[in-house]
Amino acid sequence: MNIPMLDLKAEYALLRDEIEPAVVAALAACQYIGGPNVKAFEAEAAAYAGAKHAIACASGTDALLIALRAIGLGPGDEVITTAFTFVATASTVVMCGASPVFVDIDPRTFNLDLNLVEAAITPRTKAILPVHLFGQPVHLAPLKELCDKYGLKLIEDAAQSFGADYAGRKSGAYGDIGCTSFYPSKNLSAFGDGGLMLTDDDRLAAEMRVLASHGSRVRYHHHVLGYNSRLDEIQAVILRVKLKRLDHFNDRRRAIADSGRHVYHQYTILSDRRDAIQKVLTDAGIACAVYYPVPLHKQEMFAATHGNVTLPVTESVAQRCLSLPISPMLRDDQVKHIAGVMGQALA
Ligand SMILES: *Cc1c(COP(=O)(O)O)cnc(C)c1O
Repeated sequence: MNIPMLDLKAEYALLRDEIEPAVVAALAACQYIGGPNVKAFEAEAAAYAGAKHAIACASGTDALLIALRAIGLGPGDEVITTAFTFVATASTVVMCGASPVFVDIDPRTFNLDLNLVEAAITPRTKAILPVHLFGQPVHLAPLKELCDKYGLKLIEDAAQSFGADYAGRKSGAYGDIGCTSFYPSKNLSAFGDGGLMLTDDDRLAAEMRVLASHGSRVRYHHHVLGYNSRLDEIQAVILRVKLKRLDHFNDRRRAIADSGRHVYHQYTILSDRRDAIQKVLTDAGIACAVYYPVPLHKQEMFAATHGNVTLPVTESVAQRCLSLPISPMLRDDQVKHIAGVMGQALA
């Protein structure tokens, strides 16, 4: 039985009857940029997440970049974050001229080790940037306390966790700004690229809208260096259909994984025999993947600046982690089959 990491074809088959007429209607309406579906999606996403403002943009990477620019991040500043994540978490910090400061992770959650964050704060620190890795919410309350104590901003990278709950709100709606991605593999995904910033702060919301729109408040007057970063109407139509099902889809991920708050963007195991297990699964036609094989402080792009950083837990997890297929489309017989082959691999 071949089992893919993610079955987008099954999801498309399930949603086609609703998505296709809505897309055709948007094509015929010809308001491809700044159309009514983008505005409606922003309102629906804000209401869903429990944030005052939701601002759509072109990708999760742009969401992070624009959020960091909006808090005024610039040369000389530092941002405390994790090295066990996708590169965009830290590359966007560098794009602002600032430096990521990598803190080690908790081996049980793969998220920032909350006990190590305060010691990493310096007079240059401007923000803490936790990642809700693989869909598991970071315990944000202690980070918020540190931010209040030291005058820092809390920016959530919720690219893998949209729809997860934390403290009565949805992931991304707790910090000063939350950023998410609608890349096709994410829990809420478009048929292309897309991203979103969430905030309760009117001033930050206005600033992010300006930055996403060429730095202009008044058309053709550009007072800051901005970007062309927009969600298009077609993606908004698709996201509106899928947002209605996000809780249902996340519930299915949780049911497969058999646990609580986590929204299981990935289902990731640790083993000292990771490579052997990966081979058994792959030979049996079951897709699996190593997220992430190279932590950011070991990436060539950070060699000059972070070459002597050591993060023992991050490095050990990167060598032992393996993500198994998980998606709302996974059938019970497929889940059982994966479990059976895993049993053989471990025997
Ligand atoms: C996917 C992802 C991003 C970037 O989102 P894109 O939409 O691909 O630009 C950022 N951070 C994390 C943790 C991600 O998984």
